[in-house]
Amino acid sequence: ALTAGIVGLPNVGKSTLFNAITKAGAEMANYPFATIDPNVGMVEVPDDRLNRITDLIPAKKIIKTTFEFTDIAGLVKGASKGEGLGNKFLENIRQVDAIVHVVRAFDDDNITSVTGKVDPIEDIETINLELSLSDLDSVTKRFSKVEKVARTKDKDALAELEVLNKIKPVLEEGGSVRSIEFTEEEQKIVKGLFLLTSKPIIYVGNIAEENMANPEDVEYFKLIKEYANNEGADALAISAKTEEEIATLDEDERQEFLEAEGVTESGLDRLIKAAYYLLGLQTFFTAGEKETRAWTFKKGMKAPQVAGVIHSDFERGFIRAEVVAFDDLDKYESMQKVKEAGRMRLEGKEYIVEDGDIIEFRFNV
Ligand code: GDP
Repeated sequence: ALTAGIVGLPNVGKSTLFNAITKAGAEMANYPFATIDPNVGMVEVPDDRLNRITDLIPAKKIIKTTFEFTDIAGLVKGASKGEGLGNKFLENIRQVDAIVHVVRAFDDDNITSVTGKVDPIEDIETINLELSLSDLDSVTKRFSKVEKVARTKDKDALAELEVLNKIKPVLEEGGSVRSIEFTEEEQKIVKGLFLLTSKPIIYVGNIAEENMANPEDVEYFKLIKEYANNEGADALAISAKTEEEIATLDEDERQEFLEAEGVTESGLDRLIKAAYYLLGLQTFFTAGEKETRAWTFKKGMKAPQVAGVIHSDFERGFIRAEVVAFDDLDKYESMQKVKEAGRMRLEGKEYIVEDGDIIEFRFNV
């Protein structure tokens, strides 16, 4: 499964956020084959469409789709030089598909920050520098290899060399590969380099509870957002402590609490959605008497592959898919009326599934 790794300096609120994630955890009963790793937290992806579908096509049960976060403990200065456990942290980051970078954006004299003051940009740069140095190391090694091949005028090697030449000076300045603009062709090459600073990232400013309703006014958060946007990345403000406190409340109680705080959606829900989107994930639905269920697929997947998300037999024996867009069900309010309006589609092997499709697969066993 795709996973987003939580990183950050010590004492910024990573564990607090990760606790919120595990407390809010998905009903594991629905995922009997899921491995339980203490560093992995599975959460349900909030999706209002599930309730609407179930209102129109009554079902006994609603099952949300899930999303995984991985806790990557304490990245430290000098990690890229392999000091202490440094190498292990970098390896852990290499394994994840997206990075959630938690940054301290609250004042509290009782909680010491590693640098002795609250300075979100310095904190971000401390971590990013380790990641850049690690990437610089990979790029330098790759450079000497590819340079040799490029001498033979090998086309692929020449193209890669050009990309490496674009990347190297940025890393030497402590910058991130994600801030560089690449052509589509170059992007493919970059992908193959598996660099840490090219992974999709969200910066999470851990703000004080009293700022939940107006995070945009928090100076610390403004700085974080500006930094993120300069990199072409996004920033979210969350109060990790509050998220931890409300994680175990039932949905109604949580909504009540949030409204009292002056917000409509929990920070955790916003984070889940943002990470989901960042990874290019989309949702399709199955709807029947037994259950209404949301499933995750990767944007661009074709119908048989998507059927395989449910069961590998569905992919192998795929015949066709009966597809109704959520928006059509929402509009016509019953499958019968959707049919009458000619909005139910039969799709074949080449169909690229869209976010919000309600699908019934036909397959041979
Ligand atoms: P980690 O080292 O990054 O995992 O940080 P922790 O999650 O252990 O948090 C460090 C300390 O900061 C703990 O005592 C938390 O209770 C506290 N903390 C976390 N978030 C907040 C917050 O939003 N406000 C305040 N005042 N304290 C927080």
